Amino acid sequence: MAKERIEILVAGALKEQDSALASRQANLAKKIAMRHRVRMPYEIRQLYCKKCKAFIVPGRTARVRVGRSTGATKAVRITCMLCGHTYRKILRRNKVL
Ligand SMILES: [Zn+2]
Repeated sequence: MAKERIEILVAGALKEQDSALASRQANLAKKIAMRHRVRMPYEIRQLYCKKCKAFIVPGRTARVRVGRSTGATKAVRITCMLCGHTYRKILRRNKVL
């Protein structure tokens, strides 16, 4: 139940054009997760800046750059446009062995 609400809120926040409203929805989702001790899905956690904790929307409040680092690992670099923090998100790790 709580998880469903979180997903609905985050999906709504991503679609929301008003960034103030979007971050309000995103913060509410986070509060619900904490209150119910629900672990946020990985995809959703990526949408919160690790440094300033703001909700970041790729293409709007975050710059996403696809980089190909060593061989099998494909990663994107996400730059938070609010605080400038950059972090990597690993998309796929092919097992070579
Ligand atoms: Zn940030």
